[in-house]
Order: sequence, then structure tokens, then C-alpha cells
Amino acid sequence: MSLDQFTANWNYPTSVRSGIGRIHELADACKELGMTSPLMITDPGLASLPPVKNAFQICMNADLSCKLFTNIKGNPNGRNVADGVNAFKNGDHDGVIALGGGSALDAAKAIALMVGQKRSIWDFEDVGDNWLRVNAEGIAPIVAVPTTAGTGSEVGRASVITDEENYVKKIIFHPKMLPEIVILDAELTTGLPGKITAATGMDALSHNLEAYCSPFYHPMAQGIALEGIRLVKDFLPLAVTDGSDLEARSQMIVASSMGATAFQKGLGGMHALAHPLGALYDTHHGLLNAVLMPYVLKANREAIEGCITRLANYLQLEDGSFDGFLNWVLELRKTVGIPHSLSEIGIDTAQAEKVGVMATEDPSAGGNPITFTTSQYASIFTKAVNGDL
Ligand SMILES: [Zn+2]
Repeated sequence: MSLDQFTANWNYPTSVRSGIGRIHELADACKELGMTSPLMITDPGLASLPPVKNAFQICMNADLSCKLFTNIKGNPNGRNVADGVNAFKNGDHDGVIALGGGSALDAAKAIALMVGQKRSIWDFEDVGDNWLRVNAEGIAPIVAVPTTAGTGSEVGRASVITDEENYVKKIIFHPKMLPEIVILDAELTTGLPGKITAATGMDALSHNLEAYCSPFYHPMAQGIALEGIRLVKDFLPLAVTDGSDLEARSQMIVASSMGATAFQKGLGGMHALAHPLGALYDTHHGLLNAVLMPYVLKANREAIEGCITRLANYLQLEDGSFDGFLNWVLELRKTVGIPHSLSEIGIDTAQAEKVGVMATEDPSAGGNPITFTTSQYASIFTKAVNGDL
């Protein structure tokens, strides 16, 4: 097969330049948005690795006066955003390059938002019409370049930022946080270790799957989610076992963008639980969703059996029933090395009650097909800790 099939320009949901080698258009993309001095925001672990070094060199070669900001935690917090805003202002920057995994992309988008605001970041939490408080003119332009295939944050209009004083993850939202230009170059993801490939890929699956099952009316998102799930089914195992396979990597990076595009339709119980657990235990977001997935599916069974059966048939599973789909999820998790219980990743039931409360308060809970109570969420969580499916 030819990798040329992955080269394309899309204008939905934003301007997307897809294809191998397209990172070389990074400087052009910045200039197109009027940047002369972008702040490149990336994960600390990536700073010395080829994707960042090359991207930085591309900007320098094009006479952009680019600087690097890497002070970001795995679950980025308000302090990280404030530090980034200072770096942006002190360096006289005029735009943001968001380059990295979900943490870097989310932090970068929040920094781009906050460089032009006078209020606290928490005033822009995605509640009611808080986003109308934003001075939209002040938002810096953003070029986004993902280096993992999972969060799809490059095509999202929000960032998940941890309020470190209250140990809670908050969704910060404004339509203009959607990067104006996205570069999807799967070659940047080839260096990702299998474990991260698996955890982030399962996050992409959970976005597509929760969006697909959410009860809100959004047929366009529904269609995107369906095909996104198929791409994960057909290509995640290969991306994990052979990280250098550019076809698998290309299909996964698109599946990831599709997941985040689809979840404008809503997320659900996996994310409603993963957000508080990430805030309380500082655990990898994708890994949490991957472990939680079958427990939440099972708890939702009565509400989703019909749509899951349709999905199972689209995926051409041998057993096209709900159980057949659940077994496929369990099989996929095993194939890519995801543990079966939360206890295997160091989480116990000590805070079950609190987790239940936080899950019902999480904005993602609104998209779950069943409105679970705090004790129902606590019970799903407890089963996931004990591996009791
Ligand atoms: Zn997610």
C-alpha cells in the first residue's frame, strides 16, 4: 500500500494537514497565522527527542524566533498554565505551537487562552455560559502537532487542567481554543513505546465509543465515532507491536482526531471516573479509561445493547452480540497489555465514596446513557479496582 493515501488537507473540524513528512510545513503554518515569534510548548520528556528538535530546527531555519516551554506535568495544572503565560509574555511571543501528547496540547491551548485574559483560569470552567467571559481577541493563535495518538486534543475546543489546590480536574472551554491549523504527521509518533501507544490508543477508543453511546442527537458525530472505532480495531494492535509501521501509525493518529471530533456529542462514565481518578492519583488518563472500559460498558448494558449490537456488526465481529463486543474489548485490552483491574496500577477502594461523588459532578457524566447515582459510580469503581467484572 502507498502511504500517499494519508496525505490530504481537510477543513473539518479545523484546517488539518495530514500526511507523512508534513511537519516540514510547520513554519509556513505559523507564518500563515501571522506568527513571527512562536512559543513552542511541549512535554519535558520530549524536549530532547527528535520530534521536538526537528520541529524547533524547522522554525529556526525559517527565521522564526522560537523558544521552548516544557514545564508541564503529566496532568497539567493551573501553576503550569500560569508559568507558560509568563514565559509567553516575557519572551514577547505572538503565537503558540502546541507540540506533544495530550498534556502539552491541553496546557498549550490553555496558555494561548490565558495570555489575553484578566480573570482567573477557573472562571472559564466549562459550566453554563462561562466561556462568554473570555476576551476572545486576546487568545493567541495556535498550531497544534500531536506526537501521540489518543487525546485528539489538537481538534478539541477545551483543555483539561487540574486545579491543584482542590485536587479536581476542570474543563476549560472556548470555541477559539480549537487550533486554527493542525499537522497530523504520523512519523512523529513512531518513537512512542508500546505501553504509551496502547494507553493513548485506548483513550482514542474510549472517546469514539463514549461519543457513539451518548444519547445526545448528533448523527454526524455518530458516523465519525463508528469509523473511528473500526480504525482502532484494525490498527491499534499493529501500532503497539510494530511502532515503526507507518500505516498503522497514520490510521491511529486519524482515529484519535476522529474521537475528539466525535465527542462534541458527549462522553460518559469512563471519563466521568477517569477524571477524578487522574486528579486524585495522578495516573495516566488513557490507561484509566482502558481499565475502566468494560466495567462501564457492562453497567450501561440495558441502555446501549441496541447500538452496541449495530456497532459489533459494523466491526464484523464473529459474535455480533453485546457479549461478543464486550469480549472483543477484553481481548483487545489483553493484546495491547492493559491490566484488568485498577488495583494493578496502584489504586485501592479507600476513596470510593469520594470518587462516586466526583464522578457524578464531572461534566462527562452528562453524556452517559444512564444517569448513575454516586453509589452506582462508587460501585463501578470498586468493581474496577477488584477486577470484578
Ligand atoms: Zn480521554
